[in-house]
Amino acid sequence: MEEAQRLVLERVRPLPAEPVRLEQSAGRVLAEAARAVVDLPPFPSSAMDGFAVRAADTPGALPVVSRIAAGRPAARPLAPGEAMGIATGGVVPEGADAVVPVEQVVETENTVQIELAVEPRTNVRPRGGDLRAGDEVVAPGTKLAPAHLGALAAGGVAEVVCGAAPSAAVLSTGTELRRPGEPLAAGEVYEANGLILETQLRSAGASVERLAAVADDEDAHRDAIARGLEHDVLVTSGGVSVGPHDLVRRVEAGLGVEEVFWRVAVKPGKPVSFGVRDRTLVFGLPGNPVSSLVAFELFVRPAVRALQGAADPLPRFEPGRLAVAASRNPGRDELVRARVLASADGTTVELRPLTGQESHMIARAAAADALVLLPRGEGELEAGSPVRYLKLA
Ligand code: AMP
Ligand code: MG
Repeated sequence: MEEAQRLVLERVRPLPAEPVRLEQSAGRVLAEAARAVVDLPPFPSSAMDGFAVRAADTPGALPVVSRIAAGRPAARPLAPGEAMGIATGGVVPEGADAVVPVEQVVETENTVQIELAVEPRTNVRPRGGDLRAGDEVVAPGTKLAPAHLGALAAGGVAEVVCGAAPSAAVLSTGTELRRPGEPLAAGEVYEANGLILETQLRSAGASVERLAAVADDEDAHRDAIARGLEHDVLVTSGGVSVGPHDLVRRVEAGLGVEEVFWRVAVKPGKPVSFGVRDRTLVFGLPGNPVSSLVAFELFVRPAVRALQGAADPLPRFEPGRLAVAASRNPGRDELVRARVLASADGTTVELRPLTGQESHMIARAAAADALVLLPRGEGELEAGSPVRYLKLA
């Protein structure tokens, strides 16, 4: 599995970067460091509703000479012996070095009685305390999540430079495939992989063209695959095994696809193929829906991320423990569909494999929120064994 992932990433050439409006950048991968336009906060700002004072004047009874709302700085500096009412987020006036919260004072007609001494800087958020103008707000290679967008917006960044969104084509192969809504004749099944793959690709940041499913016929394959090869990524499903109707690899070879690997020691997903033609990365995923789903997560998603310039494109496996014993496959690393449970004390994660682990069982797999990696080996892993798992979106 790791070797196949390495072979894929070796073939990825990140796409050129492009400017993107901040509002449009959610989920995009930052290509160049984004730097703050302003200090954050941009001015010394009050952390509380209260009274701006000189700490040296506390305790004491001080006249309230003005009221400062957020966005409306005081007209003049605070003089010694004075207080100004101030709202959270208001500009702490020059001359003041502390804010006494409204809960800690007794206010009478334009005088505020402060019982306790306060330290300088109390409840004052200094200018630039979070970020300085020119500082890097988000590092290149980061996929922009809500908090990143907030930090960039707060730092005054209106436009960022992101890796271009890869364009991807999805092609399902199989004479037996019908669309949901159509009647099924004997021997036919509903087409599931195209929709799974389209959704996975979009969530990885690609724009997607769904090609119409093709029958197991060389001419139909050739036309559709030729069209798919115009994209940055082509993902096919089905037709990569060893049967007489498995045409994908042969047709691709005829169209100039250089095969990098075929078959990986993973379960499910063993017949997966990967090749390149010019700039196009070409993935042949097996037809069984769970195989297709898993192989996408292991091999295609990292490639789509890397095309966008992501710093850490590989799947992030996290540590957990098996809730029950599980048998290993002697020859293949296995990705077991499981549910993530909190341990009894809530401090660790336990993984409970689902019943129904066969690669056609997409309905069973749909209840999973994790893929548990059981490295190939002899014998059983007992309950409580440490394992690594990949959280499914
Ligand atoms: P294949 O990899 O083409 O040999 O297909 C393996 C199994 O997956 C067969 O039972 C196919 O009917 C099924 N299959 C192939 N493609 C799809 C698809 N797009 N949606 C649902 N099942 C599929
Ligand atoms: Mg087939």
